Amino acid sequence: MGFTPKPDLTLYQERRDLCDNGAGRAHWWRDGADVRERWDVVVVGSGPNGLAAAVTLAAAGRSVLVLEGNATPGGGTRTEALTLPGFRHDVCSAVHPLGGGSPAFSRWPLERHGLRWLHHDIPLVHPLDDGRAGVLRHSLDETAAGLGADGDAYRAMMGPLSDNWPKLADAFLGPMLRVPRHPVVLARLGLAGITPATMVSDRYFATPEAGALLAGNAAHSFLPLNRPLTTALALALMAPAHQSGWPIAAGGSAAISAALLGYLHELGGEIRCDTTVRTLGDLPPHDVAIFDTDAAALAAIAGAAIPRRVRRSFAGRRRGPGVFKVDWALDGPVPWTNPDAHLASTVHLGGTAAEIAAAEAEVVRGRNPARPFVLAAQPATVDPTRAPAGKAVLWGYCHVPNGSTEDRTDAIEAQIERFAPGFRDLILARAVRSPHDLAADNPNHPGGDITGGSLAGLGLIARPRLTPHPYATGNPGIWLCSASTPPGAGVHGMCGWNAAQAVLAGTPA
Ligand SMILES: Cc1cc2nc3c(=O)[nH]c(=O)nc-3n(C[C@H](O)[C@H](O)[C@H](O)COP(=O)(O)OP(=O)(O)OC[C@H]3O[C@@H](n4cnc5c(N)ncnc54)[C@H](O)[C@@H]3O)c2cc1C
Repeated sequence: MGFTPKPDLTLYQERRDLCDNGAGRAHWWRDGADVRERWDVVVVGSGPNGLAAAVTLAAAGRSVLVLEGNATPGGGTRTEALTLPGFRHDVCSAVHPLGGGSPAFSRWPLERHGLRWLHHDIPLVHPLDDGRAGVLRHSLDETAAGLGADGDAYRAMMGPLSDNWPKLADAFLGPMLRVPRHPVVLARLGLAGITPATMVSDRYFATPEAGALLAGNAAHSFLPLNRPLTTALALALMAPAHQSGWPIAAGGSAAISAALLGYLHELGGEIRCDTTVRTLGDLPPHDVAIFDTDAAALAAIAGAAIPRRVRRSFAGRRRGPGVFKVDWALDGPVPWTNPDAHLASTVHLGGTAAEIAAAEAEVVRGRNPARPFVLAAQPATVDPTRAPAGKAVLWGYCHVPNGSTEDRTDAIEAQIERFAPGFRDLILARAVRSPHDLAADNPNHPGGDITGGSLAGLGLIARPRLTPHPYATGNPGIWLCSASTPPGAGVHGMCGWNAAQAVLAGTPA
């Protein structure tokens, strides 16, 4: 679509300048005269939340060092040539419903550091077997018009949320257990959202398109769709589609981390990769350490340095289901039956609301459904940097029981083939990642759980434990900022931003 990539927007592997790996200096701070003696802040982990915390504190004048265990920075925002030369795949995040309008990202000059959000014509299409589809468009009115008999119901439910999304984002993307700044607006989300998604799709909507659209978004929670609050999670994804959109990052989601890192460097912060922190003794001298790690991992690293009750609740956090991911290099665009699907960033594949609810319930029971709910993203349709001319990449995953060892490639491809006959004939190569592979790649994904801990029970509001100070650990020198804290998973940087604000405010530990 006329997009010319900036020449300096390259993949992380090519950006060693951003990450001083300190070859042969695993304990670099102990042996070099070129390193500073003490840091105000050390951040462990360079995912979007770690980098957001680092940027916030560096901007507040603190000296900041980020330590990353992986060879490349970025955590969930990396882009790599996973299949064939010339094909660039997002390793984790691909589409960013909460990233484009993130209150944290929006306040920083990330564009100057190479981040450019690209929008598809349509954020999301959810095709059904008869060729019809639930279509989530940028325009609320056009979305409602496309939902026929459910148009008025959709407008009544979504209109107030969409209109008030900036205020809602402030409430929804902060710590949940606090006095809300916009109680009336939040109550709207609460009232509509507390109802289980199955009930809304069955009783509130009449058409299968509207029901499926809601159910597919609710399934991002990894919860059975008959649980309270699953509708709230769906609405919190759908409302920004009508405001800031569901953008992808030009060049790949690695551009998000590259921009955060570029800004961090401008502010004087530094990063070292290939540096896994296993104990607090691995840290250079510092005043405050902020962990972009899984809560249970922090409990193990910090040991007796944090109070026993906190350690136990971190270590005992329930895991969410896992994911099984496939990336494809394709000989051309996916041959969707539904014409709108060609224009969408994301395509939800799983049929009706009832079918999706059944598949997700199976996963939570510890079984792999025959026909899983599949989330697919097609960045190459608006970003020519992702694949050679005329070719395409496709990104997709389904939910599986935590730690599942079953190969889901066939089941995922069958779901795509169901809505895009001929898809398999286009496959040039594929890269498959099991839950085990995901955990090996990033310790924040134990058993393939990409949610930072289950949202079941109080998991949505009591992250990582029941406390008004979710980023604190009981030790004023140790803080948590990963997706294990509010508002949870997704690329928005708000866990890191909130944690850094708590550090700056000196919130009681
Ligand atoms: C397959 C998949 C698809 C996804 N799709 C999307 C999507 O489309 N849109 C979206 O918004 N979100 C998506 N997500 C979720 C999103 O990527 C995460 O929620 C987000 O990256 C979490 O950010 P974080 O900073 O908390 O942690 P992470 O991004 O996981 O980063 C944590 C970093 O810390 C490092 N680390 C951990 N422990 C240590 C240690 N002890 N020492 C040193 N370093 C350590 C890790 O190596 C990693 O780099 C997806 C995730 C996955 C896995």
